Amino acid sequence: MALEEYRKKRDFTKTPEPAGTVAKKKQPELFFCVQKHLASHLHYDFRLEHNGVLLSWAVPKGPSLNPKDKRLAMHVEDHPYDYGEFEGVIPEGYGAGIVMLWDRGTWSPQVDDVDAALKKGDLKFTLNGYKLKGSWVLVRTSGRYPGARSGNDGRSWLLIKHRDDWAGDLDITTFAPRSVKSDGDFADILADKTPAIWLSHRPAKGGDTGAMFERIIAQAQKLKASHAGATQGTASHEGTKTRKTSRSAKTSGVSKSSKAKRKRAS
Ligand code: MN
Repeated sequence: MALEEYRKKRDFTKTPEPAGTVAKKKQPELFFCVQKHLASHLHYDFRLEHNGVLLSWAVPKGPSLNPKDKRLAMHVEDHPYDYGEFEGVIPEGYGAGIVMLWDRGTWSPQVDDVDAALKKGDLKFTLNGYKLKGSWVLVRTSGRYPGARSGNDGRSWLLIKHRDDWAGDLDITTFAPRSVKSDGDFADILADKTPAIWLSHRPAKGGDTGAMFERIIAQAQKLKASHAGATQGTASHEGTKTRKTSRSAKTSGVSKSSKAKRKRAS
């Protein structure tokens, strides 16, 4: 259709020019993920692949499917592409806590120039994840949004769902709280690692977050104990060995695939 005029003007029995076809430019698959992060405070890290890294926003309340909700999203530093599949325990230092891969999939910008949209502070895009789909927007605020840090440091954005078939009243963070990678909750992820890690110095001691940590550490210890109980009586050494082997196999699988991805990204 788009080449009709081009073709109308030419007699291809007489011209060496190609009649041509409209090229279907292959849209690159851009990765997106949301990592639920229980650190000093619970938040959701919203990440969009762009130019080989993950643009990142920390969303304290998490995404909402309700277009009326404007969720504060603090723009934070870009993360490496490989970070996007990470789920596990950060034992100490910056971001110490538990990271769960809460959603992942692909995204596509609804604009031609993502950098210009970011500069302008208005990025419209489409998500195709397990939990989040359809049309969304990230808009930069003046910094006066309640809950934002004082002053206009340009870091405060709002994550808003556009009205479409994927919008609704469903509270998605409550309805679908678990990992899309392991199907586990925070306690499962912690039990898979070492819950004892925080017995003396957990990332948050006071307040709601501290209480949440208490609860999750206790749950994880119980899970860990029941796993150990299940292998007892049989060859417990063997059980441990098998688990270790399968874990290291998993690890090498992950690094292999991430290497492949890095290659593709570069
Ligand atoms: Mn975080």
